[in-house]
Amino acid sequence: THLLDGKVAVISGAASPRGIGLATARMFARHGARVAILDLNEADASAAAASLGAAHRGYACDVTDRDACQATIERIVREFDRIDVLVNNAGITQPAKLLDIDAAGWDRILDVNLRGVLYLSQAVLPQMKKQRSGSIACMSSVSAQRGGGILGGPHYSAAKAGVLGLAKAMAREFGIDGIRVNCVTPGLIQTDINAGKISDEKRAEILTGIPLNRLGGVDDVAGAFLFLASDLSSYITGAVIDVNGGMLI
Ligand code: NAD
Repeated sequence: THLLDGKVAVISGAASPRGIGLATARMFARHGARVAILDLNEADASAAAASLGAAHRGYACDVTDRDACQATIERIVREFDRIDVLVNNAGITQPAKLLDIDAAGWDRILDVNLRGVLYLSQAVLPQMKKQRSGSIACMSSVSAQRGGGILGGPHYSAAKAGVLGLAKAMAREFGIDGIRVNCVTPGLIQTDINAGKISDEKRAEILTGIPLNRLGGVDDVAGAFLFLASDLSSYITGAVIDVNGGMLI
């Protein structure tokens, strides 16, 4: 049951206590991986890593800062010796009507959700290329597929759709190096990103559109990342895994 024995995994945006990133880190650690947790705040990232055990470490890294991504990944390679898995999980959302989106809001949402995937992947890919293997999994969203949805505005949909295109382009370019790149598109998952933002009424309405009749939990998404990170998915690249309870059927 140790699907990631000996592997080193980097997960962005993984310090949030109830978030998908930390749940993924926890599941990876249980499967034998050593995990590097990246998030905005060093103390939070270190505390999250410590909660997994002594083999894991936390780093402050704003994924919108190209130099920070490069420097952090260099440090991780020095301290862990290798990188086998990258989960591009960091993201932010914001409800918005199209006509209300201004330049700053657009830039902020696109920067974290899309540019961040580029910068962190650019930092990790040369190391994976050297190792001639690696798995990158990117966080998209059902919002990309439905053109919105529940909490994210049109800029969020655009950013998450951009992630699908970027991931497929990376899968195409780096397949020859033994590197796989895939995406996960979750539906509505219960985390701080939406906590307190959904009324009971809204929730009941949402559930009528979900055949499995429940919102997702963080481990539902972590399980998909575990599969993509492990050798169980060794012939899968450029794929998109829906984790949405059947929302798109
Ligand atoms: P969350 O808010 O708990 O976690 C997001 C994490 O990203 C936080 O720890 C935050 O500090 C970090 N972060 C934000 N900006 C960053 C930056 N510039 N650099 C580094 N880290 C940064 O929310 P979550 O629900 O766990 O979200 C994780 C990912 O899942 C996001 O990309 C989100 O868009 C995506 N997603 C969430 C849902 C859902 O319903 N919760 C559905 C689909 C996709």
